[in-house]
Amino acid sequence: MTQVPRRIVIIGRPNVGKSTLFNRLIGRKKALVHDLPGVTRDRMEGSTEWWVQGKSFPVQLIDTGGLGGDQFSNEIQKQVHLALENADLILFLFDSQSGLTPLDEELFREISRSGLTQTIPFIGVVNKVDAECHEARIADFFSLGLDTVLTLSAEHGRGIDDLQAAIAEILPPLEEDLIPESTEKDHPKFPHIAVVGRPNVGKSTLFNAILGENRMITSPIAGTTVDAVDSLATLNGKSFLFMDTAGIRRKSKTEQGIEVLSVVQTRKALERADIAVLVLDGEKGITDQDEKIGGLIEEVGCSVILVVNKWDTQSKNIQFTSELAAKRIRKQMAYLKYAPILFVSALKKQGIDSLGELFEEIYHQRQLKIPTHEFTEWIREEATIHNPMNAKFFLCHQSGRNPPTFLCHVNDPDKIHFSLKRHLVNAMRTRWGYMGSPVRLNFVEGKNRKASPRK
Ligand code: GDP
Ligand code: GDP
Repeated sequence: MTQVPRRIVIIGRPNVGKSTLFNRLIGRKKALVHDLPGVTRDRMEGSTEWWVQGKSFPVQLIDTGGLGGDQFSNEIQKQVHLALENADLILFLFDSQSGLTPLDEELFREISRSGLTQTIPFIGVVNKVDAECHEARIADFFSLGLDTVLTLSAEHGRGIDDLQAAIAEILPPLEEDLIPESTEKDHPKFPHIAVVGRPNVGKSTLFNAILGENRMITSPIAGTTVDAVDSLATLNGKSFLFMDTAGIRRKSKTEQGIEVLSVVQTRKALERADIAVLVLDGEKGITDQDEKIGGLIEEVGCSVILVVNKWDTQSKNIQFTSELAAKRIRKQMAYLKYAPILFVSALKKQGIDSLGELFEEIYHQRQLKIPTHEFTEWIREEATIHNPMNAKFFLCHQSGRNPPTFLCHVNDPDKIHFSLKRHLVNAMRTRWGYMGSPVRLNFVEGKNRKASPRK
């Protein structure tokens, strides 16, 4: 059954990151990207297929390239109409680092004037939100009155899943496009697992112990972004994709211990991962390097399990119990206090049976989507319990799932006492779990807007 791809047009002034986002959304199928000579010099067009919540979502992406610049108004008229003709959805891209500029506003005004905002769904996308601390910069962009404003980092891959989910929600598949169930089963989105850690902690041994009998496929799977080095495995009846970024599976004996994944490579792997397994050495304890990798995991925002390996060497040591070891880890890696700790012996294949269940639960909790109304009401209720500086909460909503990210519009962000934030995050964990995942709670100054009834 052929499906009609949805046409998604990326617009925005120069340098906001349109082509970076275009490449990111096209994924690996860059070969399909081509210039369209004779249409406009810079316009890029390409097709790909996303997997959103287990379903195929074919898209055609158009990057309007040279919008703006010297011949701004002429270009606008020409390009806007060329690119937006027949568009199913428009991504209006902004740059969080420069804020809302006069050029952004002018472009938005022109487009509003053309009546396009009335007929085609728009998503405001605030790019270059590379880290959590940049989230607050988006307040400006709400002033344009767009229904949906999302944040992401095209360069680092942050927030891409959420954008795809939002697009799929706004553009549900046409009835005749619905894929037969059997195809869905062949191509679900598999949670991506990265096994990371410093050299010699036992990553390779663990990887092979997990995959051993459970390994299913070694070759790339058509239509997904599975790398040749990735492996699919079924644990506890569910499939997971194990990323072998450092080549740990095929590492030969002579290479043992010398493989060092650079910070950049580790970050890249973590950015693709839903869940990181941070392997620690139960014999040697935690080192600075472990703490650094842990810090990177927290920064990137994937979920995490701390696996203390080589526990067979400690099992006879009655002086050093797992409780004591866990206490030490919690102290040294306080920033990962939401991560479950598992004691295993990869060599003896002990303690690894529960990993599948743990992956599944962590992934399930990470994917929760809390309706805006429910979240706003819940936050207001919680803030009556502890709120030393009497901050007022307006609209509060979930702005992302990878990692779970929330944005609260408040009368004054300076009135968010750190103990209030801590109270809210703890209460969220009591209510929704989020085991193994960071929970990002951000605050921006806002007006007393009502929660949209759509969400
Ligand atoms: P375009 O002119 O809108 O197509 O923008 P480009 O995609 O060429 O990006 C402009 C600049 O912004 C380039 O230097 C990119 O590397 C940079 N850029 C794009 N996305 C991001 C991002 O998410 N974070 C940061 N910090 N820089 C980005
Ligand atoms: P990597 O560099 O992190 O991939 O570590 P390897 O998997 O190559 O393991 C490094 C060394 O630790 C090897 O000699 C392994 O046999 C040993 N090792 C791995 N897992 C265990 C374990 O659970 N117990 C013990 N005692 N040794 C282990």
